[in-house]
Amino acid sequence: MKFLLVTSVMASTSSVAAQDNTEIAFAKSVLASVQAKSIAENREYCGYLGRDAAGRLASGPSIRGKRDECTPVWPDALEVLASWHTHAGYDAGAWSEVPTVIDIEADEEEGIDGYVATPGGRLWYVDTTDMVVSQLCAVRCMQVDPRFVIGSEGEIETSYTYRQLLAREAEGD
Ligand SMILES: [Zn+2]
Repeated sequence: MKFLLVTSVMASTSSVAAQDNTEIAFAKSVLASVQAKSIAENREYCGYLGRDAAGRLASGPSIRGKRDECTPVWPDALEVLASWHTHAGYDAGAWSEVPTVIDIEADEEEGIDGYVATPGGRLWYVDTTDMVVSQLCAVRCMQVDPRFVIGSEGEIETSYTYRQLLAREAEGD
């Protein structure tokens, strides 16, 4: 996914406010609410989540993107903690089951973390403090594209470092 460049410098709260169970549950519910249409329409959906003025978790607007990119709208009313996006529908020619190098680089650039849902129903956490992506829950833990073929991208590890993501994508070229 691609992001607009955001010029505002975010406070350094994202590393302190590393993922906690409440945030994970919230991110999962936001992604679950768009996963069905993301699969049916074969479009990414994306947004940001954070805390509102009262400290409650909230999501900014949900944006409908393209098959392989989505540009969320920065919600000025929130203290943004993370981006979230889906990976659209299953595509035998695309690598969709793992967050991409672009995904983690975009979050890092903005000083936030990220959550990604895949057509195979995996939920990933993009940690830009440690530069690692890890599965919060495994294949089929969210709604799955009925066309999804398990194993079509080979073995999917439970986590990848940034370097491993670079290597994975280099192999796939
Ligand atoms: Zn992505």
